[in-house]
Amino acid sequence: ANEAKQAAQTFDTKAIQKLDSAHYLHPFTDFKDLNEKGARVMVKGDGIYLWDSEGKKVLDGMSGLWCVNVGYGRSSISEAVYQQMEVLPFYNSFFNTTNVPAVQLAAKLVEISPPQFNHVFFTGSGSEGNDTNLRMVRRYWDLLGYTDRHVIISRHNAYHGSTVAGASLGGMGGMHAQGGLPIPGIEHIGQPNYFEAGRGKTEAEFGIEAASWLEQKILEVGPEKVAAFIGEPVQGAGGVIIPPATYWPEIQRICDKYGILLIADEVICGFGRLGTWFGSELMGIKPDLMTFAKGVTSGYIPLGGVMVGDRVANVLIEKGGDFNHGFTYSGHPVACAAALENIRILQDEKIVEKVATETGPYLKQQFATLATHPLVGFADSCGLVAGLNLVKEKAELVHNCVLFDAEQNVGMICRGYMFGNGMIMRAVGDRMIIAPPLCISVQQIDEMIGLIRSCLDKTLADLQGRGWV
Ligand code: PMP
Repeated sequence: ANEAKQAAQTFDTKAIQKLDSAHYLHPFTDFKDLNEKGARVMVKGDGIYLWDSEGKKVLDGMSGLWCVNVGYGRSSISEAVYQQMEVLPFYNSFFNTTNVPAVQLAAKLVEISPPQFNHVFFTGSGSEGNDTNLRMVRRYWDLLGYTDRHVIISRHNAYHGSTVAGASLGGMGGMHAQGGLPIPGIEHIGQPNYFEAGRGKTEAEFGIEAASWLEQKILEVGPEKVAAFIGEPVQGAGGVIIPPATYWPEIQRICDKYGILLIADEVICGFGRLGTWFGSELMGIKPDLMTFAKGVTSGYIPLGGVMVGDRVANVLIEKGGDFNHGFTYSGHPVACAAALENIRILQDEKIVEKVATETGPYLKQQFATLATHPLVGFADSCGLVAGLNLVKEKAELVHNCVLFDAEQNVGMICRGYMFGNGMIMRAVGDRMIIAPPLCISVQQIDEMIGLIRSCLDKTLADLQGRGWV
């Protein structure tokens, strides 16, 4: 830690911020606003911690961006990447060519994924994975002669990426408002958000109701036109929306009833986040396609892709003809080498099992204690993702909580205290969310919960000062 601090202190923060403002346009950012404030400069990571250029240590409650599953500073991944770069830094997988790490990773992914998956299509990111899904499911139906069967149903507030197809499949209003999205052929239904929409129902009843919106939409569009349904097992960027246990099995039943392909976007839930290798396993569903990215390499090198189930793969393979889709970096040997070593770590250290039996249940127990805080109206977790809703007035029944006005931006105020006090927690409206590295220990969970509680206290004092509570 001392070493990290020393290294961090050699950076000239002001100079970096100045260059940053002058030349670097950041993703999902108000450029003008950032230029006025100056970006925080991260310079080093180790385990679940990060250091910024001022030498300040922070607990990374978001695993970078839901991706650093094995934690920072794994030199065996750097070593695997270095070795592969020395031997063969790049070759493509076009023109009937392949490379060894890509083949080995494909086989490994088949081994660790549910039995219906025997093939993989590699991309460079989750967004490209979902673009692949869109084109692949349409190609599947075309090959079977159902050329009208092109509509994909998704959910409001879903996040499926930022490419044109990814953002269209996603249900983010702010993204659709820019650039003429969504593209045609994509429909959205409501999300299974019990806190927001479950009034008057048990969670179980609400799960069935939220799934029934899929059937309504299928009937509205016409079952003969619907190609697929896509959803994240637990919605991440939308605010860690953990569906009632009844939701996904009912979605599966409806997809089966109409013969519709089921796509699980596992970009966040894959590689152990929920205590199973893939979130679908926990939710009890059998998707035809699964998007992955992030945790496949723990973010050390960009890599994504789609696990393609037998139902789809068999048609694509047996019918023949080119699938006119792919990327320069599909099956990138260095990225695949990083993924192989990352998966080895997850397996050898039994990290997924630990999330299921130790750290996940412990987080659930500890996170629930935050629900007693005067600002917290609702708190829930699943494996190592969790979220809590900040409310103006608590109530016994969560649907009776009094919410803050959206314009008050209470979530951002709270996030400011978190960042300022060494804890990275994200705000989605007034819902505060975490997804810590899967290597977090129970002692570190205690440290994290302590930090969150003290920042909630600071937020409460601030809001009291403003007369908002
Ligand atoms: N799907 C989901 C569920 C995601 O959370 C994300 C990224 N947050 C993506 C897709 C897009 O992945 P990428 O940013 O790698 O394109």
